[in-house]
Amino acid sequence: MSSTLHSATFAPGRFGPYGGRYVPETLVVPLFELERAYEAAKTDARFQTEFADLLKNFAGRPTPLQFASRLTAHLGGPRIYLKREDLLHTGAHKINNAIGQGLLAVKMGKPRIVAETGAGQHGVASASVAAHLGLECVVYMGTEDMARQALNVSRMRMLGAQVVGVDSGSRTLKDAINEAMRDWVTNVRNTHYLLGSVLGAHPYPTMVRDFQSVIGREAREQVLAAEKRLPTHLFACVGGGSNAIGLFHQFLGDLSVKMVGIEAGGRGGQLGEHAARLASAQGFTGARPGVLQGTYTYILQTEDGQIATTHSISAGLDYPAIGPEHAWLADQGRAEYAAVSDSAALDAARLLSRTEGIIPALESAHAIAGLIERLPRLSANDLVILNLSGRGDKDMDTYSRLL
Ligand SMILES: *Cc1c(COP(=O)(O)O)cnc(C)c1O
Repeated sequence: MSSTLHSATFAPGRFGPYGGRYVPETLVVPLFELERAYEAAKTDARFQTEFADLLKNFAGRPTPLQFASRLTAHLGGPRIYLKREDLLHTGAHKINNAIGQGLLAVKMGKPRIVAETGAGQHGVASASVAAHLGLECVVYMGTEDMARQALNVSRMRMLGAQVVGVDSGSRTLKDAINEAMRDWVTNVRNTHYLLGSVLGAHPYPTMVRDFQSVIGREAREQVLAAEKRLPTHLFACVGGGSNAIGLFHQFLGDLSVKMVGIEAGGRGGQLGEHAARLASAQGFTGARPGVLQGTYTYILQTEDGQIATTHSISAGLDYPAIGPEHAWLADQGRAEYAAVSDSAALDAARLLSRTEGIIPALESAHAIAGLIERLPRLSANDLVILNLSGRGDKDMDTYSRLL
């Protein structure tokens, strides 16, 4: 494998040594077809107009960049702005990508989409877009996640999607992705696989990033208008990494802007207790580069290379691999990654609720907790944009049980 990696380092879909396209023969042609359709869409004025129209009128963009005055005063450090992706239709940033890929499915003449979902947010976004565009929609979801996110299962069904429970493996996101890929291979002629994060084989990590990068384009303009300067720090939670890269991408060339991705530290550093793939400096063990579900990246695995089980209080963050572009940004030191515990995320969710009147998704609460843990290294002159990736409605059972 190492020679393949070496020779392919500069191929499209590579982020340094990471990324690539490690798939069975049957998926090579559909991935090429998707890549071609996506490349064409980039310069297709009609596609871009439709995409912009749906982002605005269906999803509710642009989202505000809100100054969090009471949180700023409470923490006593940097000025903090929240990018309010939680205000989007269906409650999280996932809708940006779902709209983009839904339009691509239409463009490719595919009347059926399959999707996987962890927390259910991507399933709900996909089901909503499918209904809006008149596409058939099948969503695969681990049965463990179905139990944790019952409300989202009802929403998907209300929207006309078929929700298929996956009972294999850890019965979470990784297993749902396996099933969605199996369905895609079988039905590829009429089906598009609407992958929900910057994961999987090329072109998904690049394409999903591009669809999500509207977050950073808006935020950059908004912060310049409000503060007449660039932020010093960006914070975002990292599951697969789509909301984080969506915010980061437009700032990558601004070397004064520090970027911090916050992973799920769960219950501790031992393998199986967390989902931190890049925070090894903090003692989170078990991540090494490898191939999972089509891409080469950091993966939580056992000594002998079995995919490890993960734990997070947040269903959207407990995936064993991380998007390959994040692996590359971490290796280069362009972005930093740290993990916070389940309990720190819960405390941060309560703090944001009480200071700002915003109940965040558990995933987004990790980003807030990450900012709080980093306060000693920040000053009052610093300017933070924190991506509030989603709202907390889906997590109310967990909040009321544990807080
Ligand atoms: C799915 C989800 C995430 C994690 O996914 P990324 O691809 O890492 O962004 C984060 N926040 C919310 C609200 C989500 O629904």
